[in-house]
Amino acid sequence: MLQYLWGVDMIVDAHTHLKHEDIFRTEYSPEEIVETMDRVGIDLSVVFAMSITTKRSIEMALEAWRKFPNRLIPFVYALPSYERPVIEELRHAITNIGFKEVKIHAGECTLAEYVIDPVIGLAEELDVPCLIDCAGRRSDIKRIAESFPNAKIIMAHFGRYLCGDEKLIDKFIDLAITHKNIYLDTSGVVLTHKIREAVHKIGSNRIVFGTEGPHKDPDTVSFAAREINKIRNLNLDPEDEENILGGSILEILRI
Ligand SMILES: [Zn+2]
Repeated sequence: MLQYLWGVDMIVDAHTHLKHEDIFRTEYSPEEIVETMDRVGIDLSVVFAMSITTKRSIEMALEAWRKFPNRLIPFVYALPSYERPVIEELRHAITNIGFKEVKIHAGECTLAEYVIDPVIGLAEELDVPCLIDCAGRRSDIKRIAESFPNAKIIMAHFGRYLCGDEKLIDKFIDLAITHKNIYLDTSGVVLTHKIREAVHKIGSNRIVFGTEGPHKDPDTVSFAAREINKIRNLNLDPEDEENILGGSILEILRI
């Protein structure tokens, strides 16, 4: 049962890791995540765990959600290395437990149609979005968006994490212009002026704020605050800023 208290100017982090995919498989406890949120003013955070099985990702996100039902939103991690059990686990997490979205990472799971399409098809059927880190694989996102026009595809990091290639980011924004079911996530975007350009090209209601945290770089609070300031320093219209910092993801998740 969701118990979030909705407000127009809420800050929602749409990309938070309980467990990262870095070489140390760094984990953060729900307590550390919520303490960081409190100190920087983040109201809600989406949480998911990676570099583990789908089953374990459900357990970790569920445990976190049970501890902080008013602050955390659980996403299920899809690692469809064998189709049937993972599809059943995903369906169970979304339908019976209340998970709100499916996270997919091209670094750990191929986006080839014979592996990923059953997952996207399920998300489309159950009407939950997919947050996909496609690691720069634009043609895969294009194929997925076209094959599943009713699935909401959130492209993590505007297409590629820490991308310094302006032309590549332009191609991902172009993809979102032509495919209305593609959304963009600001986490790990370093060419921040591209976020402002994307607001003008696709509208702020298809752009969501995320930290890609927690990270101790230099500490979890400074890291999250830097990501919020990245958006605020764009000096967008107040309505666009509110959409990106929380309104858009609440709308997408129907919270
Ligand atoms: Zn991430």
